[in-house]
Amino acid sequence: MASHTALTPPRGECRQCWLHTYDRAQHAHLAPREDCPDCVAHMGGRHPDHMIVR
Ligand SMILES: [Zn+2]
Ligand SMILES: [Zn+2]
Repeated sequence: MASHTALTPPRGECRQCWLHTYDRAQHAHLAPREDCPDCVAHMGGRHPDHMIVR
């Protein structure tokens, strides 16, 4: 179960990246060395604006 921290990113943080960092369940379906496509898509600071907490 996701912790409160995982579900409540502070202002200016990317909701997806925050969730994937703090909720291990988000990567539970990946193989041990498999990259998460959602995280890869955001690498290098490419976070969609609508995912940033205002
Ligand atoms: Zn992101
Ligand atoms: Zn991820």
